[in-house]
Amino acid sequence: MNSAGMNVPQAAMPKSIAITAAVFFFASISCAPRTCAQASPLPPKGEADVHEIYERLLPQIQKIPIFDNHAHPAFADDSDVDAMAAPEGESEAFRIRETNPELAAAAKGLFGYPFDDFSPEHGKWLEAKTTEMKKQQGAKYFSNILDRVGIETVLANRVAMPDYLEPTRFRWVFFVDSLLFPFDNTQLEKRDSDEALYLHLQERVLLRYMKQEGVSNLPGDLAGYEALIRNIVADNQKRGGVAMKFEAAYFRSLYFSDPSREEVEPIYRKYHAGGIPTNDEYRVFEDYVFRRLLDSALAFHVPVHFHSAVGIGDYYNLRNGNGLQLENVLRDPRYLGVTFVLLHGCYPYERQAIWLSAMKNVYLDSSFMELIMYPAALKDSLRQWLEVFPDKIIFGTDAFPFNDALGAEVTFWFGVNSARKALAAALAEMVAEGEVTEARALELAHGYLHDNAAKLIRR
Ligand SMILES: [Zn+2]
Repeated sequence: MNSAGMNVPQAAMPKSIAITAAVFFFASISCAPRTCAQASPLPPKGEADVHEIYERLLPQIQKIPIFDNHAHPAFADDSDVDAMAAPEGESEAFRIRETNPELAAAAKGLFGYPFDDFSPEHGKWLEAKTTEMKKQQGAKYFSNILDRVGIETVLANRVAMPDYLEPTRFRWVFFVDSLLFPFDNTQLEKRDSDEALYLHLQERVLLRYMKQEGVSNLPGDLAGYEALIRNIVADNQKRGGVAMKFEAAYFRSLYFSDPSREEVEPIYRKYHAGGIPTNDEYRVFEDYVFRRLLDSALAFHVPVHFHSAVGIGDYYNLRNGNGLQLENVLRDPRYLGVTFVLLHGCYPYERQAIWLSAMKNVYLDSSFMELIMYPAALKDSLRQWLEVFPDKIIFGTDAFPFNDALGAEVTFWFGVNSARKALAAALAEMVAEGEVTEARALELAHGYLHDNAAKLIRR
């Protein structure tokens, strides 16, 4: 087979390939089941019990220290947890509703929670328990939670880092979308109630960044604004930032054009001190600023993370937020030196998205998928990823504080335990059907849960 999956006639094969093919053919006749060079579509009869393999793999997978590539660690009353906020009354997917008994089981696993539901009264038990633990453990509280769950390092997506997260365990990922929206956003906020909330929060983040840089007004010309962008990225890196994050999918399409400076300069001149840009003018400006942020990512070696999947809010636009819209950027040779991470694996388009990671600098992160998908469904998606580019897939939880009782702690536990099971099951099927050996399966597990992501950030 060639790379396009077509049969190549023997006569057309170069001699070396023909010899290799022959060696493989003879080797496959004599190889043992489960390690066979020829995979089978079903586990061979009576040979490989997928449950037994799963039971062998799972305890070993449970011992792998985890690198959590994407989470929002915080106490519930900490508004720096995100540059966004969930709109009131949004629809919640079935598995992450408080009524899911698995969440109570997670709280049981982590805190010995004695109830099977989260009724307000029972929730109070958990609130009191964690408040007491926080008081006793101080800045060690969240690190101790990581130890309990088996997480070594977390990339913390936050507006700023608080003193209650230890920097040795929690590394900062900073948001950059606010730089795309420095003008009067009245027009954009009118689109729907979610946008009105989101853009207002972006304006607050931009003001904080400007204060950080000692700037009270937007610079008078585009060159000044470009310098501001570079300085913010450089300073955030000095403050411990290990990646920049775009939540742009919430505000606009992830398709970014490549406008010229000449096109953008008059737009900046016209609106930096006031006035409402048309939607077209704003989009051209955003596209230009996006490109400048990528320039900074390249210059300062800062990996770029994208929200690339379904998102919070009922108005979230699936087509605009589909990570496949980024293809012109991800496959652009000018950005080969930028590490791109597609958070949430472009779910529900994860099966197409894995092919984006054919680019050496593009990675897929499965955070949130393990919360929203039951292990049986995640198993199938992970298996497809593992069979295509296993060295390009990375684990994350997207842990987030749901409310005062159900905190990020429970989501860490829930996400990690759910993903470990799905991973063990995906690998068990692959072993049973002769695709990989158990030893190779465990190497792939180490890559996905830790090594593939750990190598992407500065130590
Ligand atoms: Zn997130």
